[in-house]
Amino acid sequence: MRCYFDNSATTPLDPRVREAMLPYLENLFGNPSSLHADGLVARRGMEEARRDVATLLGAEPDEVIFTASGTEAINLALLGVIGETKAADRHVITSAIEHPAVLMTCRAMEKRGTTVTRLPVGSDGIVEPAALATSLRPNTRLVSIMAANNVVGAIQPIEELARITRAHGALFHCDAVQAIGKIPLDMRSLPVDLLSLSAHKLYGPKGVGALYVRRGVRLAPLIHGGGQERGVRSATENVAGICGLGRAAAIARAEMADDAARLVGMRDRLLAGITEAVPGVYLFGHPYRRLPGHLCLGLAGHEGEAIRLLLLFDDAGFSLSSGSACGSSHIAEPSAVLLAMGFDPVRARGSLRITLGRFTTDAEVDRFIEIFPRIVGSLTATNLQHYQQRRQQ
Ligand code: PLP
Repeated sequence: MRCYFDNSATTPLDPRVREAMLPYLENLFGNPSSLHADGLVARRGMEEARRDVATLLGAEPDEVIFTASGTEAINLALLGVIGETKAADRHVITSAIEHPAVLMTCRAMEKRGTTVTRLPVGSDGIVEPAALATSLRPNTRLVSIMAANNVVGAIQPIEELARITRAHGALFHCDAVQAIGKIPLDMRSLPVDLLSLSAHKLYGPKGVGALYVRRGVRLAPLIHGGGQERGVRSATENVAGICGLGRAAAIARAEMADDAARLVGMRDRLLAGITEAVPGVYLFGHPYRRLPGHLCLGLAGHEGEAIRLLLLFDDAGFSLSSGSACGSSHIAEPSAVLLAMGFDPVRARGSLRITLGRFTTDAEVDRFIEIFPRIVGSLTATNLQHYQQRRQQ
């Protein structure tokens, strides 16, 4: 039996989500734009899903636009806002630790004349609100900061950052792809204007996302066509996927608090278990302002071997992730996030990301705690062998 400890990469489909999707993959196949009964049934399912996503966010249904991914929602937020402005008005602020969906979109905007400021973070992976306050310019149009980081799991002070942005008269976009369903994000109390999410991080299907757009915020569409999604995102909707997202959102709303409490317990037990068994394990990112099931670890003395560790765990039946970008040569590049947090390239190359989820069991955590010292020990033995071979050469 494999143990899946990579829930920040993607989550398994919740059987209840699958159940909600199936009718729309079978008999309820109508096009939601059609006026006949088949179309109306599909539209009804889709609008119920929109209400469920809106309820999770404390938003109104007409503030939810369905997209084909978190990446697309982010592109729509950033390019959609900037597309509406004149060249001289284009200053955007983001952070140095955003997901490539934000960073690469900012880079594309820079090529077209937008000025972009990337805020630094502390060694805990947190964006300092004071840094935002001093970076705002008269022509700052948009600030985009993630709710929680995908590498270290650090939770950002979104409320404070969004308040500073609003007081300045700019719009605030939040990439909540990692945070949604794990921590409460309520648009009634948060002065956030745009928020991106993705179904496959929420025990829903891949290829579906959503963008929350506060009433009154105008967006230029990226995809032109038949005018679906209030003209902002044309294309016949992925009805089954959207219904899956709706169900996933409803489950997250009902179970978030219980899931989070259970995950924090398992995560802390896992960390305590392996740090007790193996000296030299250290944690990247803020010690407690982090996502419930998220751990990003380093192992002193083995920094260059994150990918090897990952493969050894894979052989032992555990799916984990490296915080570093892994090239085709399987040699880890230093993680841009860890570099931005001030770690040297050696440490930034050596992280191991363990992300527990709704279906992680206590028994799996026990197995991991038991196997961890053995795997690290085998790494040391391999190192010794390598070292001895090199000395003999
Ligand atoms: N933003 C963050 C923080 C992510 O972790 C991810 C996916 O890993 C994305 C955006 C992109 O979402 P999607 O895979 O739905 O395009």
